[in-house]
Amino acid sequence: MKYCFGVDVGGTTVKLGLFQTDGMLLDKWEIPTRKELEEDVILLDIAQAIEKKMQEKGFAKENIKGIGIGVPAAVRDGSFVKKVANLGWENKNVGKELEELTGYPVRVENDANVAALGEMWKGGGAGYNNLIMVTLGTGVGGGIILNGSILSGTNGGAGEIGHMLANRNETESCGCGKKGCLEQYASATGIVRIAKSKLNENEKQTLLDVNKLSAKDVFDAVKVGDEVAIEIAEEFGRYLGYALADIGAVLDPEIFVIGGGVSKAGDILFTYIQKYYDERTFFTCKDVKFSLATLGNDAGIYGAAKMVM
Ligand code: ZN
Repeated sequence: MKYCFGVDVGGTTVKLGLFQTDGMLLDKWEIPTRKELEEDVILLDIAQAIEKKMQEKGFAKENIKGIGIGVPAAVRDGSFVKKVANLGWENKNVGKELEELTGYPVRVENDANVAALGEMWKGGGAGYNNLIMVTLGTGVGGGIILNGSILSGTNGGAGEIGHMLANRNETESCGCGKKGCLEQYASATGIVRIAKSKLNENEKQTLLDVNKLSAKDVFDAVKVGDEVAIEIAEEFGRYLGYALADIGAVLDPEIFVIGGGVSKAGDILFTYIQKYYDERTFFTCKDVKFSLATLGNDAGIYGAAKMVM
């Protein structure tokens, strides 16, 4: 039996998974992301964690196929990152450095792309080869899998669907500096933003409180039939559904997998997303499937491991 490691580097913790190459997860654990030190020790910490696990399990070096690693940045050529402010990395050849530290082959990719691959392999998109993953969290992340492989693009920037233009009349800026990005309406923060503007002009009875508001509050209220919450969900669904229809026309996927904090609202999301998707989709893409992500925070280690299998 051969083994490989899947690593997911986040701003506060690094998640690691040890897999058999048949796909079985044998062990998973976390280490802190030590980024406050003068010296950059993140990769060194990962190398040591892997070495320690190897000794603990008594595995021989030749039985390890490689290490896959997801990082919160655009990744070029499966290895190189230009700037990761969150980790203090700049012009770093992550793959090469970790290969030198461990002696194993390493493949690096953007974390959202890696999560998409994980969901295709063992999660909400299992059984499909052409998949778009949409992560609705603080922002809107995306990952594109075509013919079973990650599409990373020239600069590692492919799949950034949160920064597609959704409203050309927007006057407020997105975190990326542009105006009118999908993320400004379809992320958890975006939903709250829509909700606030609705509530400020609203005169109907509602369960929602403008001073204490989250995306979860909105969908909880939708589930009990709150009229104002439903209007907010419709607007969210219109932005996201139209954007997915555009993506469908370009990439013709088999399935959209929706993950991230907002996806905890459950299947009710599809009532609003699919309605607008169907309204604007190109005819070849009308039978696309929608599903919820199922791996949660483990999607990253699964996808990372899959890259080196
Ligand atoms: Zn943007």
